[in-house]
Amino acid sequence: MKTIDLISFAGHKALIRVDFNVPLDEDFNITDDNRITAALPTINKILKDGGSVILMSHLGRPKDGPTNKYSLKHIVPHLADLLGQKVEFADDCIGQQAIDEAKALQPGEVLLLENLRFYKEEEKGDVAFAEKLSKLGDVYVNDAFGTAHRAHASTSIIAQFFPHAKYFGYLMAGELANAEKILNHADKPFTAIMGGSKVSDKILLIERLLDKVDNLIIGGGMAYTFAKAAGGTIGKSLVELDKLDLATSLVQKAKDKGVKLYLPIDTIIADSFSNEAKTEVAPTNAIKDDWMGLDIGPETIKAFSAVIESSKTILWNGPMGVFEMESFLIGTKAIANAVVKATQNGAFSLIGGGDSAAAVAKFGLTDDVSYVSTGGGALLEYMEGKELPGVKAIND
Ligand code: AMP
Repeated sequence: MKTIDLISFAGHKALIRVDFNVPLDEDFNITDDNRITAALPTINKILKDGGSVILMSHLGRPKDGPTNKYSLKHIVPHLADLLGQKVEFADDCIGQQAIDEAKALQPGEVLLLENLRFYKEEEKGDVAFAEKLSKLGDVYVNDAFGTAHRAHASTSIIAQFFPHAKYFGYLMAGELANAEKILNHADKPFTAIMGGSKVSDKILLIERLLDKVDNLIIGGGMAYTFAKAAGGTIGKSLVELDKLDLATSLVQKAKDKGVKLYLPIDTIIADSFSNEAKTEVAPTNAIKDDWMGLDIGPETIKAFSAVIESSKTILWNGPMGVFEMESFLIGTKAIANAVVKATQNGAFSLIGGGDSAAAVAKFGLTDDVSYVSTGGGALLEYMEGKELPGVKAIND
């Protein structure tokens, strides 16, 4: 793998695509800095080598050009704290000021560019825009796994301007190595836990995993599509009516391939989609008319936990219930604890990014699992077998 370990950055200006798309509160305080800390090893290696660092990222989804709300300047103080040094900021990611500031940068210094998505050209993968960005450094490093599935100007198109000077940062390399380990070198028993709202989002991954796993656990909103397909009554629970046949065929495929499929036996049902709703425990296939299933029930927690705790490899993508509400986080928390227990017993556990990563962080368990991916969509696509544009651009 072409990682930054292959070169010394002494005297070089490294242009690094990072993913600093962090959540901010109304006062622009960073509420979760995981994506920034994940990029620090790459930045520090380059600085230690005697290189200078030019960081580029997006933040949020700005619609109409520059807006204070999406300015990366809000990140500067915290980044400076984490690095223990001053961080320069360029008000624009291209143009004369960015060029001048990049040129003036000395070895050991750091410059952060303004939000790339203030230009529509970024997401369009515009070649001329990518070329302008490329002028700022002499080595290109991609460490933005979270956007590696996008063929944007800064994530893939830009690499063509560095035919002999493009590398994966440590975060990218770590993400790819861990995904690879799960896909091709998993110790058995291998258990995949799938949850979240929709089966349609994860169908490709589930189908691929059926060739690899011993156990497939399905929870969260997507489980009710399976319950309905099997003839159950699910009240007002989340369902994809156009995916009933698909659910039936997945159950059959699992059987054909000898994969043990575990679906929720019981469910926490609620009389409204609210933290204050009235709740009861019900069989997943016999939910009352006006009620909805919002979490897995106690029998299911027991059954799922037993499977997880006896596994040697675990992949988890998607919560077991509406974990954002206190009343419906119990199932997701219990599953997180089971994954932690398995990890303590020697299992390798990979938590897919997005909501599962947020859930594990909410329970304070991020350090108790083997690896938490920073990529939601990127990890899903990589595991589905798709070539990520951000990865291909470095490998080509
Ligand atoms: P996804 O983005 O597909 O991984 O889904 C994550 C979302 O699924 C989270 O916001 C959860 O609140 C939601 N979710 C999980 N279980 C349920 C459920 N039983 N009913 C409705 N939403 C759910």
